[in-house]
Amino acid sequence: MNNREIIEYLTTRSVIMPASEGGCWLWEQCRNQDGYGVATVNGRTEYAHRASMRAHGFDLSDLTVDHQCANRHCWNPAHLELCTRSENTVRTALKRWGAYRRITELTGVGDFRP
Ligand SMILES: [Zn+2]
Repeated sequence: MNNREIIEYLTTRSVIMPASEGGCWLWEQCRNQDGYGVATVNGRTEYAHRASMRAHGFDLSDLTVDHQCANRHCWNPAHLELCTRSENTVRTALKRWGAYRRITELTGVGDFRP
């Protein structure tokens, strides 16, 4: 699958929420025990959000992908941000304490469409 086909594959297996409801693109297939979407792309099993970022042209290298919307099965690149593993750990703790940006503040970020 090329990038366009990967995005179509993810789209046809997801619920695309309107921007007025947060704009999450929610993977509706397999999820792991932590709630992350798991997809099979080009014969490889990987997280839907990582496949999405790669298909949208981001270089993941050894970075992690932070869900700013806190929906672990969301793969909307406007809701995702690349960061180091240690940054992601800090962000996760902040979210747990309720000290992180709310999803309403994310609406309109980026210009991605499935
Ligand atoms: Zn989201």
